[in-house]
Amino acid sequence: MPLVETEAIVLRTHRLGEADKIVSLLTRQLGRLRAVAKGALSRRSRFGSALEPLSYIRLWIYDREGRDLQRLGSAEVVESFFEMQKDYRMQVAAQYLAEVTERFLPDREVNERAFRLLMAVLRALKHFGEVNRPLLFFDYWLLRLGGFLPDLSCCMKCRKSFAGQAGFYVESSESLLCSACRSGGSGTQLSAQALALIDEFRSARIEEWLRMKKAPAGSRELRLFLEQVIEAHLERKLVTRRLLAEEG
Ligand SMILES: [Zn+2]
Repeated sequence: MPLVETEAIVLRTHRLGEADKIVSLLTRQLGRLRAVAKGALSRRSRFGSALEPLSYIRLWIYDREGRDLQRLGSAEVVESFFEMQKDYRMQVAAQYLAEVTERFLPDREVNERAFRLLMAVLRALKHFGEVNRPLLFFDYWLLRLGGFLPDLSCCMKCRKSFAGQAGFYVESSESLLCSACRSGGSGTQLSAQALALIDEFRSARIEEWLRMKKAPAGSRELRLFLEQVIEAHLERKLVTRRLLAEEG
């Protein structure tokens, strides 16, 4: 049973019996996996505070190939995202990132770009204290990396370009229609402004984009649509999406 060193982001933990924890992790070298942390709940646990949700950690893991549950040898914190989660809205945003990552990325599939994306978005939340644009950036890039981003440049039916025009979508759809193709005035509007935002961040690093200006109009609108695309793709409702919506 080889002991493997890797970096990871803690997605979620839950209690296992009296003293242990099951930890859901996105690791850099082994992909997403779950592992048991023996004794993690005991007072003098060797894991210390390394297993807090969204901690960026270095860990040693007994990789039992073919097994559903691995075993954690030890772990240490590289960067903590604990403080920022004292703000409830930040906590919900962080939990959203964890929930989507856990549902979206397949087990044991190494995905360096998704790992770096999650790290960058966590740091953006921490340093800029803003929720909308970091989550929008995350949704967009996760869908794009996974190959599930719909064509947002034109109507899915008539293929007419949106250039300066609004798009429309209905509940659980994964793409946009133009105003002529939507039936009987139905659907939620995604403004031209929101669609134009994509060009703003598509070729920028997240912190460059966030430094540009304070929450541009349309970012929330676009985020809500991409969240819906993610839910439609996962074929399930996200618990944290509802919590985010309650927070406005
Ligand atoms: Zn059309």
